Order: sequence, then C-alpha cells, then structure tokens
Amino acid sequence: MTERHDLPDPARRAELAENLAKVEERIAAACAAAGRARDEVTLIVVTKTYPASDVRLLHELGVRNVAENRDQDAAPKAAACADLDLRWHFVGQLQTNKVRSVLGYADVVQSVDRMKLVTALSAGAVRAGREVGCLIQVALDADAGARGERGGVAPDGVAELAAAVEASQGLRLDGLMTVAPLAGAYAGRQRAAFGRLLEISSGLRVRHPAANMVSAGMSADLEEAVAAGATHVRVGTAVLGVRPRLG
Ligand SMILES: *Cc1c(COP(=O)(O)O)cnc(C)c1O
Repeated sequence: MTERHDLPDPARRAELAENLAKVEERIAAACAAAGRARDEVTLIVVTKTYPASDVRLLHELGVRNVAENRDQDAAPKAAACADLDLRWHFVGQLQTNKVRSVLGYADVVQSVDRMKLVTALSAGAVRAGREVGCLIQVALDADAGARGERGGVAPDGVAELAAAVEASQGLRLDGLMTVAPLAGAYAGRQRAAFGRLLEISSGLRVRHPAANMVSAGMSADLEEAVAAGATHVRVGTAVLGVRPRLG
C-alpha cells in the first residue's frame, strides 16, 4: 500500500500545504478567541518518523521550526537539511550518551528534566563551543520528586533545575515545556493542565524573566494551549498525517 508520505513530491507538497493552512487557521482562531496576537504563538512542526524530503517541502512552505524526539532519526535528517535555515527542537526523552549527537543539530532541547542531563548538556555545549536553549519539561502527572512516565520533572523540582541550567556554561534557560498528561489529576483536562503550566511559568519568570517560552499543545489540544497562554505549539499529525509507525 502506498503510504501518504510516499506520494510524489507535488502531491505531497499540496497535501502538506493544505494541512498547514488548516493548522494555521486553527491557531489564528484560537489566538483571536483568547484575545492574543497571532505572532505570540510559534508553530513547531514535529517531523518525527517522516523523511527529510518532507522537511524540505515544509521549509518551502514557510516552516522554520521543526521538532524531533529520537536522535537516531533526527541526526541524519538534520544533516540532510543542513543547508536550510531551520530551528531544530529536540522534544524526546534524552539519554546522556546521545547529548553529543543532539548538540550537533538541536538549537533548543525542550526535554530537560534532570540534573544529570543538565551537566551533560553543559559539558557538550562547552566542548562544541556553542550555546543551547533549554526548556524544563514539566511532568504534571508526577508526584513530588518523581519523573513522569514520558519524562519531565515534577512541578516542585522546576526551580532547582532552572537554577542549575542558568548557572551552567553553554546553556540558556528559555522556559518550560509539557505534554498533557494521560493519567493523574489532569488526565483529560488539557485546559487545566496548561493553565497549571502557565502558573509555574509565572513563578519561574520572577527569578528568570527571560525564560518566557511556554511549549504546550499538540494536534489534538493546541486550542487549549493557546487559550492558556502557550507561546509554542508542537504539531505533528495534523500537518504530516497519522504517523506510519510509533514515534
Ligand atoms: C509527537 C510529539 C508531538 C506532536 O504530536 P501530534 O499529536 O502528532 O501533534 C508533540 N510533542 C511531543 C513531545 C511529541 O513527542
């Protein structure tokens, strides 16, 4: 069977253009409903499991922010697109042995969730002679001290990690990220979950006023994220189609 992503280029381009237009409409409507300016929200297209050819088409269509969650897939894709002016966001759980590779292409790591990772990112950034943007991933389904199932630090661990990022050479504290929890008190309550993230962000900005990125919302819940005040939405399926495999 022909997969959607195997369509010839012009057909795939048209499909991506149509999907992007629909997502753009949704973001614009959500901004309008929330009394926010459209330019307060940046669309990040999550290209995981899709080929570099799709990234090139998205770039032609005006996309400048892309995200990936697995270094094995992302590293060759980013290399194949190195000639494009794209900002790469890493949004997956990150093992410290992958840090060096991820720092080869990622402008922002959105999944910073433990001290050991801060240390590894800092060492890697210094070695590479560069600065990397960091978002603390907040697990709204984690109990105090515990990490969420899909990564992230519990809300009461955010301040300590943020201070560590701020104090680390080569790292820039950009803000917070979350994935709406599937379990716990916020399961099925995206608006409340994102509202809580914005509260945590307000607290963070007292000490770190420049850390104003709030990355929340995906294909299914971007409206709730925009309503709550997210500055970045991460959209995969609604732009690229249902993923051909888990990712
Ligand atoms: C895959 C992924 C997304 C995009 O999800 P969709 O439902 O396909 O829009 C967003 N954020 C993270 C962390 C992801 O892994």
